[in-house]
Amino acid sequence: MNIVIFGAPGSGKGTQSALLIEEYGYYHISTGDVLRAQIAQGTELGKIADSYISKGQLIPDELMIDILDDVLSAHPESAKGVVFDGFPRTIHQADALDVLLEKRGGKLDIVVGLEVEEEELIERLINRGKTSGRSDDNMETIKKRLDVYNNQTNPLRDHYMEQGKYEAVHGMGSIEDIFANIKSVVEKHRSL
Ligand code: ATP
Ligand code: MG
Repeated sequence: MNIVIFGAPGSGKGTQSALLIEEYGYYHISTGDVLRAQIAQGTELGKIADSYISKGQLIPDELMIDILDDVLSAHPESAKGVVFDGFPRTIHQADALDVLLEKRGGKLDIVVGLEVEEEELIERLINRGKTSGRSDDNMETIKKRLDVYNNQTNPLRDHYMEQGKYEAVHGMGSIEDIFANIKSVVEKHRSL
């Protein structure tokens, strides 16, 4: 199965992806982690990525899509199933994901949307900023990231709803309760 974990910054995508991987053994791709690894290594790509990330902006679609294509090719085990965390973030990326999966004989099965109130998102990100060392976990950049999410990423919700692939999951409460809800929607799509 190919699963997209969808939601605003701070909605818990990384946390819930880790639990999904533990449960189902799929391959995890966090585009944020991929970019931060490049920044940490000081590569050319990392420098470009940092110039966008630190401002709370998205990396340009074509570059992001190429990076994802490369990661999938470098990890053939991903053909058995992937949890996509942080991708797609634009309609253009969503179309590209369909092409990338189709090219490999697969398809996207389900989009799990973690729905969290904005106040809670801001609180979580500010808290994370105290220890994350991330250049984008500060009030100014958080506001920008939420704007970008609302304008560029949130339209994907309707896009996937029209395809019957979107499953909303209430993203507030305990990590275990949220995961139990995710599991039940994933199981539903597994048997489709
Ligand atoms: P969460 O806290 O739920 O894990 P997040 O938004 O805080 O989500 P990441 O997904 O790690 O964090 O993304 C961090 C930054 O990396 C984004 O703000 C953006 O600049 C860049 N980025 C990550 N994925 C993409 C993508 N698919 N397209 C463009 N830019 C991306
Ligand atoms: Mg993350």
